[in-house]
Amino acid sequence: MKILDKGEGGYRSGDPRGKCLECGGITSGKPYCLEHLNLLPGTSELIEKIEGREQEIENAHTGKADVKGEIAADILSVLRFRKSSISPSALAKDVGLRGNVIEPFLVALQEVGKISISSTNGSISISLRR
Ligand SMILES: [Zn+2]
Repeated sequence: MKILDKGEGGYRSGDPRGKCLECGGITSGKPYCLEHLNLLPGTSELIEKIEGREQEIENAHTGKADVKGEIAADILSVLRFRKSSISPSALAKDVGLRGNVIEPFLVALQEVGKISISSTNGSISISLRR
């Protein structure tokens, strides 16, 4: 699932100026302003999911990539689906992260033996460990 792909959360479509149904404030074309966006059905779950991933990314960059978190699960499911090795940048794209963001997760997943990272002729490939 790619939810962080389109810049600022993907809320860019439509009229750039709309009015919030709750407070009348200017919005980016959505029925609610950022403050009341959670009134949209389904949005609070989405925001929670994004915040969860951002927290995971933050943790990863302070040295604790969560191998049981959502990002790790995404990485593993992409690899499971592929059934072959994949380059780190293609994997990052499939998971919807930048290369430098995904790296600590790959290192952590390799450490726990979930994936293998191999280098052939200078090109790195990631595969699921079986
Ligand atoms: Zn509002």
